[in-house]
Amino acid sequence: MDKATRLQYLEAMGIDVWVSRHPPITVQALQAVDDESNHVEWADDCRDAGGRAMSGAIAEHREAHRSHHDEPSEIDERWASFHEAHATHPALANEQIWKDLQHQVSLCRACSLCETRTQTVFGVGNKQATWMLIGEAPGQNEDLQGEPFVGKAGQLLTEMLRAIGLKREEVYIANMLKCRPPNNRDPESEEVAACNHFLQRQIELLQPKIILAVGRIAAQNLLKTQQPLAKLRGVRHQLDGIPLIVIHHPAYLLRSLLEKAKAWSDLQFALSVYQKLEK
Ligand code: URA
Repeated sequence: MDKATRLQYLEAMGIDVWVSRHPPITVQALQAVDDESNHVEWADDCRDAGGRAMSGAIAEHREAHRSHHDEPSEIDERWASFHEAHATHPALANEQIWKDLQHQVSLCRACSLCETRTQTVFGVGNKQATWMLIGEAPGQNEDLQGEPFVGKAGQLLTEMLRAIGLKREEVYIANMLKCRPPNNRDPESEEVAACNHFLQRQIELLQPKIILAVGRIAAQNLLKTQQPLAKLRGVRHQLDGIPLIVIHHPAYLLRSLLEKAKAWSDLQFALSVYQKLEK
């Protein structure tokens, strides 16, 4: 993360950013002095707050920094001490990392969908969830409300979850794309590629035990296949070592109630895979 972004984050978090004995720092000035050697990925270091000791990550960051500069800047020190302060509170640190990621998503202009969105739709649910659901992209209701699966399809999805004993608040729900494609058209491959790192980061932070790919488009993109839904259902796939089950999209079920029995069997299958993991 470059210094300018770091400065913006610190400011957004309400942390004083000042540099003594130097002229006032502006974002533009920081951008000008920023160089390749400063590109230490802080979020990567801090991501594993629950595992590796945060202070170790900070020490490594400082060491990496020192190899390129005589002394770390005061902004680096402020950033490091912010994380140090949270090292003893991993849950708080984790919450902050999620907030940072959501903030990055809200600023994203990597593809043209940013021009037409009302807002980004990050994801919702329990950050300790063992079940993660990944849909395709926000629709109109989601774009307006800023939450995935809130329209009619979302209500049906909530019912589907309830059918296997899961409350919506217990799971984590996200989409491949964080912005609505105009007129709900299918996502373009460039849009999926541009957005993918955000989804990857959500999966890394959540570390779910099971992922449900909701619908054909999500399933084909996540599994990088063109196989039809009929071939993808009822199979235990893997995504980054996590079991992934493909289920019917609730919007499809709304159009074709006859398919509800298939949706039920998708969910039963997912539940049986999950229960085996628990044993
Ligand atoms: N369909 C999706 O795939 N995601 C949503 O959030 C809403 C509808």
